[in-house]
Amino acid sequence: MVMSMVRIEHLAPDLVLIDTQYCEVPGAIGAYLLLGERPALIEVGPASTVDTLLAGIRAAGLEPDDLRAVAVTHIHLDHAGATGTLVHRLPHLEVYVHHVGAPHLVDPSRLLASAGRLYGDALAPLFGEVRPIPAERVHALGDGDEIHLGGRRLVAVDTPGHARHHHAYFDAASGDLFTGDAAGVALPGSHYVRPPTPPPELDVDAWETTLARLRALHARRLLLTHFGPHTWVNELLDQMRERLRAAVALVRTAVDAGERDEEISERVRAVVDASLEATDGPGAVGRYEVIMATEQSALGLIRYVKGTTRRR
Ligand SMILES: [Zn+2]
Repeated sequence: MVMSMVRIEHLAPDLVLIDTQYCEVPGAIGAYLLLGERPALIEVGPASTVDTLLAGIRAAGLEPDDLRAVAVTHIHLDHAGATGTLVHRLPHLEVYVHHVGAPHLVDPSRLLASAGRLYGDALAPLFGEVRPIPAERVHALGDGDEIHLGGRRLVAVDTPGHARHHHAYFDAASGDLFTGDAAGVALPGSHYVRPPTPPPELDVDAWETTLARLRALHARRLLLTHFGPHTWVNELLDQMRERLRAAVALVRTAVDAGERDEEISERVRAVVDASLEATDGPGAVGRYEVIMATEQSALGLIRYVKGTTRRR
């Protein structure tokens, strides 16, 4: 295997962003390494890029064996897929995850079935092998639970919306907020925020509450998994909320008009691509598609809208 060049960035003396270079694309999926008395990762990326992750850890001056903890924001494979592989290689590693997600790290069969419905035959080549984790290594977190990562104390913040089982991690001392997917996707150098809205757990009402909650933390910096640090905190969270609302409205109108799912998906793609290119310039669409295909985001919205329409 050809090892890609290591790409790491120091965000603070004790905090390093490692680029997993998923699908050879820089700035798509990140992992955060916290240095200090209890070396730890927040997010690990998919199993397919675990060697790049380990190379990044070494480039930051740490031996992977020194790692003590991993905290994941949620169990989707682009965030947590490598956790099992790491646990089997690194004997001291403890895993922290939302209590609703915890059983699916111990037994990933339902998670893999769900991901398989979205990705089909591409699942294994994209994400690699997802290994189960012994239950005694998995620590289920609830809202407000505190964990010790690196030299920092972080608080788990229940942040449903993108998924039911999602935590952000907040470090009140520095103002750093690790947002997973809860603040959406905003790539380096861009001021465009894209809401990742896949099935099956998308809950737009819950997500609105989550965004208000994140805003109320008064974070100094958002640290996104897709991708990197952003200091335009309030603008980012507000734009995320507006784009989420607009996407739901678009899909609801189309569903009410009786359009087929494929037509709705195309409609979403046209609107998203146009607004993205207007903000980021031509050719901007590709690097977002690597993180989440518009088709998947549209599918999640359609399913959500049809579900809430039935309930009304
Ligand atoms: Zn996700």
